[in-house]
Amino acid sequence: MIRYDNSDLLSYGIEYSAAIPFSACKIINERKAGFLRSRLEPRSAIVFLAPYYTGDGERNISKYAVSEDYHVFMRSLFEKLCPELCEKYGGSFIGMADSSPADEVSAAVYAGLGVRGDNGMIINEKYGSYVFIGAVYTDVEFEYQPDRTAYCIHCGRCKAACPAKNGRECLSAVTQKKGALTDDEIAYTKEYGSVWGCDICADVCPFSQKAETTPIPFFYENRTPYLTKELIDNMSEEEFSRRAYSWRGKAVVMRNLTVTYENGG
Ligand code: SF4
Ligand code: SF4
Repeated sequence: MIRYDNSDLLSYGIEYSAAIPFSACKIINERKAGFLRSRLEPRSAIVFLAPYYTGDGERNISKYAVSEDYHVFMRSLFEKLCPELCEKYGGSFIGMADSSPADEVSAAVYAGLGVRGDNGMIINEKYGSYVFIGAVYTDVEFEYQPDRTAYCIHCGRCKAACPAKNGRECLSAVTQKKGALTDDEIAYTKEYGSVWGCDICADVCPFSQKAETTPIPFFYENRTPYLTKELIDNMSEEEFSRRAYSWRGKAVVMRNLTVTYENGG
């Protein structure tokens, strides 16, 4: 068996990566697994964490959405990384992020990159929950060498701070809904002042509170931490399509801005 070494990803600012057997991946999307199998016979997955926290500052959207969409980062990473891995180890490599057939949090936990916190997110010892999970699938059989680094202390802070109580949905999901919001959803969104997403359960976690900032330059560029109607209106379609909130369309973001800063919805 071949031993994976993380130096390839380290050169992209990604410190936490490990190889796991494909058989250990919990498949949650058979269609995507079928697509993967049509391209190669998967034997291992190199799972990694791309940290995105760039420090605090005024924002009215979730931290993850401040820079350009992480899919843009992942695509450009995979374009360079996969040929490099192929040259180093032989075999074929296919990068996937979000479109992965496997449960990414479970895969990252199995790889020893962190643990699943009571807030449902991966917690890494250095970057807390402010990480994107990616995976590169390959027909190369790598040795499994997990490195367990963090743990959830079940302190209860995430559950106590979560505003999704008394029948309310997750605030992040409400900000991503299409169409008109109910009066209660409008009051809820206004109360927490979020135009996109919710970071509360990550922000209160003691591991995220001591999170280090990312060394990856991508997350410091083209930032739009504070959305306004004018900013969204003036974004070209191409620019808007590179944002994490673009998949819901401009109308949803505009509605949230109205709900948060103007009367009613
Ligand atoms: S994202 Fe916000 S609303 Fe959703 S579970 Fe976390 S704290 Fe609760
Ligand atoms: S806030 Fe506490 S209980 Fe919640 S994920 Fe973090 S350590 Fe675990």
